[in-house]
Amino acid sequence: MIKPYIIIDNTKIKINNSTCIINNKSTKVNNISVNISVYLDSLCNAKCKFCCATKDYIADFNFNKFENILREIKNNSYTINRIIFTGGEPLLNKNLFNAMYIAKQYTNELVLNTNGFIYPNNKCIDLVDVINMSIHHYDNNINNDIFGLNKDINIFNKWLDYKNKIIPTCVLMKSYINKEDDIINYLDYIDSKGFKKAAFYGLMRINDYTKDEYIDINNIKFNNKYIINNKRICYPIKNICQCNNYCYTSKINNIIPFYIRQVINHNYDKGNFILFKNNQIISKFK
Ligand code: SF4
Repeated sequence: MIKPYIIIDNTKIKINNSTCIINNKSTKVNNISVNISVYLDSLCNAKCKFCCATKDYIADFNFNKFENILREIKNNSYTINRIIFTGGEPLLNKNLFNAMYIAKQYTNELVLNTNGFIYPNNKCIDLVDVINMSIHHYDNNINNDIFGLNKDINIFNKWLDYKNKIIPTCVLMKSYINKEDDIINYLDYIDSKGFKKAAFYGLMRINDYTKDEYIDINNIKFNNKYIINNKRICYPIKNICQCNNYCYTSKINNIIPFYIRQVINHNYDKGNFILFKNNQIISKFK
């Protein structure tokens, strides 16, 4: 019998013992696995109007505490499904490589969230398994406007050496990518660059801009015969988070899997999730 929570570093972490619902079925799991998000700091070179990175900068990353927590999780026979490094822009953080090096010993999936505007440090990138790279539009000028930055094409080309690890991620917004045709153009664009899959996210309604630009993912209707929907409900209670999986057959006949996700209630503790932020464990994203 799996306990409804585990205690790590004196913090209660809620545990779900069933998978997401896919095609009306959810499966019970026998082992506990957790995901860890490591919030390094809020430093960023971009100025996205929808940014939710809180502005509490951490001066020093506590490596000992971080490793002790990872060790405690492993010693209790829990699996660390993935460890995600996020920010801000993690590539600006001087502690990134050392923190990743430690994390790599405790998980099979090391993930980096980045906006892709910084020249990648090969040492770091070689360690990671998945790179979630924010690309919010297939038109480069519009994408630059969203970030408030100019893309250096040499830097972007350098990233293409890692295209098998990169998942382009796009925030859905009323003024930008917001309907089936835009999504198809986006998928054909990332296919032309050699990326293999994509992710789309609904906005978090955290300020006036995001409230104005918000679109409900349920209002995006897919009629194109080259898109197949694989019905998935991310959590049994639909007003907490929703997530649909799809496959698209591109114009050049590649199959591009993609998902669209939106979190409805950001304060709800969905479980199996640990945030390491300000050298503390927090049991839900906030
Ligand atoms: S790139 Fe990410 S962290 Fe940086 S401003 Fe944009 S949303 Fe915020």
